[in-house]
Amino acid sequence: MSHQPGQGPVQITTEEIQARIQELARKIEADHAGRVPHLICVLNGAFPFFADLVRAIQMPVTVDFLQASSYGDAQESTGEVKLVKDLQFPIKDRDVIVVEDIVDTGLTLKYLMQYLEGRHPSSLRIASLLSKPSRRKAEITIDYLGFTIPNAYVYGFGLDRAQLDRNLPFITSEEPGSDE
Ligand code: IMP
Repeated sequence: MSHQPGQGPVQITTEEIQARIQELARKIEADHAGRVPHLICVLNGAFPFFADLVRAIQMPVTVDFLQASSYGDAQESTGEVKLVKDLQFPIKDRDVIVVEDIVDTGLTLKYLMQYLEGRHPSSLRIASLLSKPSRRKAEITIDYLGFTIPNAYVYGFGLDRAQLDRNLPFITSEEPGSDE
């Protein structure tokens, strides 16, 4: 689903996010019939999307959490990715779905996918709430994508601005106080 192809700030409402999460949950259920998918939340930004997605999925699932190094308070990828928190549970022969907040350059997920593939899951898929394809430096196939957005820095619904605003229940790129 593409969002805001024209000019102006990105705005994705709570209702739009929740409706899209329901659609993604139905697709995940269909793709994993008779299986127990293992969903991995990439901390910190994916936590609200992850919590809503796992609750929308109407079949047994298991969960785990992983944390890669972020940009700190900067808004640009350094290309260097470090694992800050490892998985708790084995993923060998599991149907794994990695859940991200946003795929920007794709460098974080490229690293994580290589790492996870090395642990021999039965299948490995990606769910991401947002994608900025114009910024891509690594080729990433997103199996369950919420919204495609233009090249703008967005925040809210888990995404931060210098660690703040993760708790907003919507996504926006608008500067506070701007008239746009
Ligand atoms: P990538 O490695 O460039 O794909 O970056 C992935 C990570 O960068 C995401 O998981 C976010 O933490 C962060 N990020 C990228 N773009 C944005 C944005 O527009 N707002 C907030 N965080 C972002």
